[in-house]
Amino acid sequence: MMTGAEYIESLRSLKTEVYFMGERVQSVIDHPAMRPHINAASVTYDLAHDPVHAELAQATSHLTGRPINRWTHIPRTQEDLVKKVKMLRVAGGITGTCFQRCVGMDALITLYSTTKEIDDKHGTSYHERFTAFLIETQDHDLMSGGAMTDAKGDRSKSPHAQHDPDLFVRVVERREDGIVVRGAKLHQTGAVNSHQFIVMPGQGLSPDSADYAVACAIPADAPGVILVFGRQVNDSRKWEGKIDQGNRKYGVVGGEAMVIFDDVFVPWERVFMCGETEFAGQLVDRFASYHRQNYGGCKSGNLDVLVGATSALAEMQGIAKAGHVRDKLTEMAHLTETMYSGALSCSYECSTLGCGTAFVNPLLANSAKLNTARYYPEVTHLAQDIAGGFLATMPSEREFENPRVAPFVRKYFSTGPDVTAEERIRVGRLIENMTGATPIVECMHGAGSPQAQKVVLQRLVDWKQRQALAERIVGVGEVGPGQADEE
Ligand code: SF4
Ligand code: FE
Repeated sequence: MMTGAEYIESLRSLKTEVYFMGERVQSVIDHPAMRPHINAASVTYDLAHDPVHAELAQATSHLTGRPINRWTHIPRTQEDLVKKVKMLRVAGGITGTCFQRCVGMDALITLYSTTKEIDDKHGTSYHERFTAFLIETQDHDLMSGGAMTDAKGDRSKSPHAQHDPDLFVRVVERREDGIVVRGAKLHQTGAVNSHQFIVMPGQGLSPDSADYAVACAIPADAPGVILVFGRQVNDSRKWEGKIDQGNRKYGVVGGEAMVIFDDVFVPWERVFMCGETEFAGQLVDRFASYHRQNYGGCKSGNLDVLVGATSALAEMQGIAKAGHVRDKLTEMAHLTETMYSGALSCSYECSTLGCGTAFVNPLLANSAKLNTARYYPEVTHLAQDIAGGFLATMPSEREFENPRVAPFVRKYFSTGPDVTAEERIRVGRLIENMTGATPIVECMHGAGSPQAQKVVLQRLVDWKQRQALAERIVGVGEVGPGQADEE
């Protein structure tokens, strides 16, 4: 298992083709826009060596019996699923942001069972290939980017019916030695600092979209793979200074990129689905359930940081004892624990898939993610309420170096002999950045938009069973009249 430092160094040898602000990036690990996110991902490596948290972040491979990083582990038990959530909360609290590696983890978990099910139906050999790939990923402790979300074009049309056939990733050529894929996956978390991508379909597919039913693994620096790193709100602060970015070490959210596959060759041993459209919807649902489980873990860890920052700022500003402030802080903690409890509940209520993989309860996992999309912004509003208007009007860190205004900034932003202006502004900047547009959009649309969770909930809720409960009490419907009056 690599340490965080070894992971970062391992990225140096990759020749990943990355573009940002109109230019080719020569070294992602040295680029100020990317380095904080790389630091956040490195925490997933360091935790496996941490004397306190190794018990959560390490696992034993059920394939080799060797110790591995849990971010490459296939959960086999309820305990594995619970540890996954607890590990994410710890990492979320250490980084205060997204550490990115869970997308690839959930892609590994999902494909392990799905490839077996495809083989059982079609007599293919995807599972054997995938298992070999999984062992390599575990043994080399690789970070995988889970590449699922297509460009999608006109959302009312199927992949094969788009005006441009490349708007969903597809197979453009089948050769004796492999396939050639073309298309793009958008919003790819951790893409610039992944060793490899695991491509999967992004939605259910009809039989006439067979070329789009493709799952495969591609090295991040394979010929034809091009990455375009996305902008974030306030991102220029990363190269302007230290304080104003709020979370200088780990950044804000995952550092997402567009991943373009410009006719990329994939050898057959790295192809895990090719044309089996009837498995695409199930694969996406399964992946989504695992990733929605996570959101009650990582985001509650992030909110622990925000609750802590808000509580600290309230003390600095002399309002910590005010009744309404204590009430709001308690509400922030309550919403955080509600998110966490959803992630734990879907883990405890798990089932076992055919190949021995522990599977979260999808109804509870989707509810957990929906709660995160709703509660995370509520918690940020409360943080902004308590912090006050200075969140939006703080002077820049450069003012501390300007001899004409620095004494005034220090004087008027200090709140007492024990609180310097710089300390107060540092905490304020953390709150400002954690409650800004980028993390709010991410907690809403990451792991699928709220409507995607509602569609699953509508499908999974047993409406008839609920109706029967009510009808039995009042004695109507199929239960028959009069039952309510029987005593
Ligand atoms: Fe992991 Fe959370 Fe980031 Fe998803 S949003 S990759 S679950 S830290
Ligand atoms: Fe995410």
